[in-house]
Amino acid sequence: MNQGSLNYWQQQAQQLTFEGRAYINGNYQTAMSGEQFDCISPIDGKLLVQVSACGQADADLAVTAARNAFNQGDWRRRSPAQRKLILQKFADLIEANAEQLALLETLDMGKPISDALNVDIPGALRCLRWTAEAIDKVYDEIAPSAENELGMVTHEPVGVVAAIVPWNFPLLMACWKLAPALATGNSVILKPSEKSPLTAIKIAELATQAGIPDGVFNVLPGFGHSIGKALALHHDVDTLVFTGSTAVAKQLFIYAGQSNMKRVWTEAGGKSPNIVFADAPDLDAAAQAAAGAICFNQGEVCTAGSRLLVEASIKDEFVTKVVNAMKNWRPGHPLDPNTNVGAIVDKEQQARVIGFIEQAQAQGGQLRQGGKSVEPVQNGFYIEPTIFDNIANDMDVAQQEIFGPVLSVISFDSAEDAINIANDSEYGLAAGVWTRDLSKAHRVAKSLRAGSVWVNQWDGGDMTAPFGGYKQSGNGRDKSLHAFSKYTEVKATWIKF
Ligand code: NAD
Repeated sequence: MNQGSLNYWQQQAQQLTFEGRAYINGNYQTAMSGEQFDCISPIDGKLLVQVSACGQADADLAVTAARNAFNQGDWRRRSPAQRKLILQKFADLIEANAEQLALLETLDMGKPISDALNVDIPGALRCLRWTAEAIDKVYDEIAPSAENELGMVTHEPVGVVAAIVPWNFPLLMACWKLAPALATGNSVILKPSEKSPLTAIKIAELATQAGIPDGVFNVLPGFGHSIGKALALHHDVDTLVFTGSTAVAKQLFIYAGQSNMKRVWTEAGGKSPNIVFADAPDLDAAAQAAAGAICFNQGEVCTAGSRLLVEASIKDEFVTKVVNAMKNWRPGHPLDPNTNVGAIVDKEQQARVIGFIEQAQAQGGQLRQGGKSVEPVQNGFYIEPTIFDNIANDMDVAQQEIFGPVLSVISFDSAEDAINIANDSEYGLAAGVWTRDLSKAHRVAKSLRAGSVWVNQWDGGDMTAPFGGYKQSGNGRDKSLHAFSKYTEVKATWIKF
């Protein structure tokens, strides 16, 4: 893909047209109330477009369209092979619009354009294509039964799925939900974050162009407390899938209990430990990975390696290596293809991250690098990658999800000590283990209460592996064949001959 130059992307940005309306039943339309909100670019604080602020009336409209489409059955009754072809076409259209979508993502939430091009869009395509390819290869079951009976165990689409997603990987997180939801025959209502609605709105028309019937894929932008809540409380939404913070995830279970007991599947926060033993195979590689684990996407990653656990005997040597590695991660203009640290999503998030940095300093953390807001682009929201040494695991900076480029270093004395510290968190999303001792790697990996464990690397995996959390990092799994279970009900049909 063309990586261009800062100049190239700035020119592309000037020519870009923005769509800010909701997409319901195959058409773009403004919110029923006429309300809009400003979509501001964190790159420079400038207004990109006004976006429809959807509410209850729009939820009712979209849910009715989705339900009618489901009942009418044009999508769910097609063979899996037919749905596969359309989802593959959808992916092809996204690929054909890759530059525009990458640009929208960068302008909207501030990530470096090279990441949008090389990580987000390819990840979204891989998810759609893998899931589409898989759907005509999954089989139902025949239960063991008596000679004169047939027991069938079949999977059926749940019906209307509402997907509420965050702003850190807007298109990718949306695809992790909508690919398996659509592949299994459901109707979907996607609610993007109010901080990053533009790519979700754009792909809606591509879905229609690909042949997804009207009403099967709808997009409702707006705020969590209005449209998000309306969908979560809606009596005709069958399943709610969510990626976002643990606090909101908890609230969604309450909404489900207050309404129709819709199924709720959540992918929530993290405070992932990255454990480096003295016998790591390559300390330089481990240090590079530790820096990348907190700097990539400005640290706005649910699986950010935000707690670096280092064996005491190598701690000082290793932290110096990480500090040096972090010097290569510098905030710059997100539209410059050479930039690897972009803007923080908005002013509030920037202030929140700075608040954690100040608190860590006040509580005795030793600031080794970074710690300040910077402005590589005037009026934008940027923070220097930051590393604190001498952190105790019970400090806020080690317990709270910061969602910014702030790394806490904690030392440990033994494998048991490392496991205890790693698991002493309300979260359990991911963890890393660096050692050349195979038995120790297995032992520690087994003891970690986390949905993903990476050995001698950070952020491994593929569409072939499930992704999700233990504890308050959520329930359910995205990606892989496991994702299908969230979007289907299981039916037992018992036939007597
Ligand atoms: P958030 O919880 O603030 O918002 C997520 C979504 O929920 C947004 O669309 C928001 O509008 C909506 N929302 C907010 N309040 C709501 C309410 N009362 N009812 C219904 N919807 C509501 O999270 P965020 O700040 O957008 O994203 C960052 C969080 O996402 C972090 O905690 C991060 O760890 C998490 N995350 C998790 C994963 C994962 O796979 N586990 C992946 C990416 C991000």
